[in-house]
Amino acid sequence: MDDLQAVTVRGAVFNGPRQPVSIEELALDPPQRNEVLVRLAAAGVCHSDLHVVDGAWERPAGVVLGHEGAGWVEAIGEGVTRVEPGDLAVLAWTAPCGRCVPCGRDEPWLCANPDGGGHRLSPAVARLHRADGAPVGAYSGVGTFGERQVVAESAAIRVDARTPPEIAALIGCAVATGVGAIRNTARVDAGASVVVVGLGGVGLSAVMGAAMVGAHPITAIDTSPAKLELAVRAGAHRTLLAGEASQATGADHVLECIGLVETVELAVELVRPGGVVTLVGMTPQDQRASFDVYRLVEDGKQIRGSNYGSSVPARDFPQIATEYLGGRLPLDLLVTDRIRLDELDGALDAMRRGDGARRVIVY
Ligand SMILES: [Zn+2]
Ligand SMILES: [Zn+2]
Repeated sequence: MDDLQAVTVRGAVFNGPRQPVSIEELALDPPQRNEVLVRLAAAGVCHSDLHVVDGAWERPAGVVLGHEGAGWVEAIGEGVTRVEPGDLAVLAWTAPCGRCVPCGRDEPWLCANPDGGGHRLSPAVARLHRADGAPVGAYSGVGTFGERQVVAESAAIRVDARTPPEIAALIGCAVATGVGAIRNTARVDAGASVVVVGLGGVGLSAVMGAAMVGAHPITAIDTSPAKLELAVRAGAHRTLLAGEASQATGADHVLECIGLVETVELAVELVRPGGVVTLVGMTPQDQRASFDVYRLVEDGKQIRGSNYGSSVPARDFPQIATEYLGGRLPLDLLVTDRIRLDELDGALDAMRRGDGARRVIVY
């Protein structure tokens, strides 16, 4: 790849908590061994970006934000075999090494040694630089709020090129997390009753996943009537406003998809004895929830944490894209607004106001 030159890209850089992100021009080096250059086509704006900007999650400054995205492979480094130029790739925010013990158990989200660690390609390697040569990182190794990125081969997952890029982008985080929580973590069976608490991109994806596996009935809970309507289109059989949640007692499965202590505790209340609570939403760091231990043990309830929907990206992303193209997952209803990279700050503000529309940057 010696014939390739560094290119100039614009990216949204995180410069420290509670500061506006800045759109900067950066130099991007060509891909090296086992690396892939991707021209981003679309990137979703997710709460995990907002948590960083607002300081709820501690992350290093000097990093291009964005962890949900898809784009076209433009160039590959030496040794790359899984994608080639022209492929549509969904970017994964964990790039499993494939060699450690958790990877061997098919638990790549627990990889001991992922590429993209430290929000760089590897802790010591960044392909992005400022004009003065200072390295700039990429959030979770993918930094999808940049026009182009160089990512690890294991983070670039080829999917059917007929998948619209906005949909492909969402498969990389919200959809894999929600559908995966149903299928991989909770392992919901056909006919099981499911309650989904919180109807952002992840919660709506969980509703769609539950419908796809034949769960019944599916109850969706949120504070927003507009989101309850979306949940019906996603496949929910019944919807409840948050104040009516106690009507949902007795479900086989309850999935918490917000990341609030009070709804985590609610989920434990709602599930039937012997049922399974799956915690999907991520709270700010250091939050603690409580429950009645005696009752939980007596009732044989289970609580599971679901990171990235327990997904194996190379297996699950192409499958989800195929299910979308086959009409089994109505993912289009997740995309409520298309924006430009310069409009990111406004999108983050709207998220702070609790306006739940899913904004997708289209490059
Ligand atoms: Zn996300
Ligand atoms: Zn690993």
